[in-house]
Amino acid sequence: MIYLKSPNEIAIMKRNGAILKKCFETIGEILEAGVKKKEIDDEVERIIAGEKAQPAFKGFHGYPAATCISVNEEVVHGIPNGRVFEEGDICGIDIGVFKDGYYADAARTFAIGRISQVKQKLLDVTMMSLEKGIEQVKPGNRLSDISHAVESWVRKNGFSVVKTLVGHGIGQRMHEEPQVPNFGPPGQGPELQEGLVIAIEPMVNTGKSDVYTLADGWTVVTADHSDSAHFEDTVAVTANGPEILTR
Ligand code: MG
Repeated sequence: MIYLKSPNEIAIMKRNGAILKKCFETIGEILEAGVKKKEIDDEVERIIAGEKAQPAFKGFHGYPAATCISVNEEVVHGIPNGRVFEEGDICGIDIGVFKDGYYADAARTFAIGRISQVKQKLLDVTMMSLEKGIEQVKPGNRLSDISHAVESWVRKNGFSVVKTLVGHGIGQRMHEEPQVPNFGPPGQGPELQEGLVIAIEPMVNTGKSDVYTLADGWTVVTADHSDSAHFEDTVAVTANGPEILTR
């Protein structure tokens, strides 16, 4: 069941998206070599509490923190612990908020100091693959037009998309239908209708596509230990095309 949102519901989600934007702006100011994962998570939790919102991930299926922080070969769902960021790391941070009955979800991958050329290319390609997906968000297109645009850009640039984890509809639940894969042929799946709100979230590896979950039950890493990046925005379908709610 796909729940289309009214303009009023989308406005609430956009206010929640603005909280995420604030979190990422602050992270950009404080994230550097020597800082611990947990310190970033604590700061995000303070910001979200200050906005009288709730960190959506905390307690979700028992998840222990407000953020997921995934470094280098970690793809997603890295747990904020005492790990210290080092010069040359890349660091994916995923945050969800809940307020006034609705969720918003977004992720950014940051560079710690100077990073390698291949890591920089990975960030650029992953960020642009999200843009390519968002460009397809308009009434009349099919869902898999987004998927195809993301994968095409990534493959063209010599990297691979993760296939076992996908984007999702979002609204009064964090994960709603439809699933939004980052791969596949165009022209399939439901037609995009005004009021559909989805989280588009390419996860891109410099090596092969395969991933597995560590013994902590959460952290997803690349099977070949290549580097991985993740960007995500919550996007609404409007008559005029995509409205990004988390920037
Ligand atoms: Mg998500």
